[in-house]
Amino acid sequence: MEDCIFCKIIAGEIPGNIIHRDDEIIAFHDVNPVAPVHILIIPRKHMSSINEAVEDDRQVLGELMLRAKAIARELNIAESGYRLVINTGKSVGQTVFHIHLHLLGGRPMSWPPG
Ligand code: AMP
Repeated sequence: MEDCIFCKIIAGEIPGNIIHRDDEIIAFHDVNPVAPVHILIIPRKHMSSINEAVEDDRQVLGELMLRAKAIARELNIAESGYRLVINTGKSVGQTVFHIHLHLLGGRPMSWPPG
């Protein structure tokens, strides 16, 4: 998608603080972190939200979760706790319409979210 900021990070057209990349996904630091650890994990394939996911995306969606687990361990928040979030739709805070999994940790968090 030519006007998608995350597709541009994947393509290397704009910089990203990338901490993981493989054939299917990349992970990078959020430019505006809301927690001491704030990583975004995204598929290379453009889909605007989970609403667009189809059966063939089952594996890559699983990869997002397992990569989040691995990164949480690498960044030493696996034991202290972390939150995984996929905002879906403007009304709940989605601002970038390329599906992304937020990995948030390094501080206590309350529930329910605002
Ligand atoms: P959401 O509100 O769930 O759509 O999350 C989008 C996230 O992308 C926000 O936390 C932004 O801070 C983050 N973001 C936007 N542009 C960039 C960028 N160029 N590099 C890294 N993170 C970004």
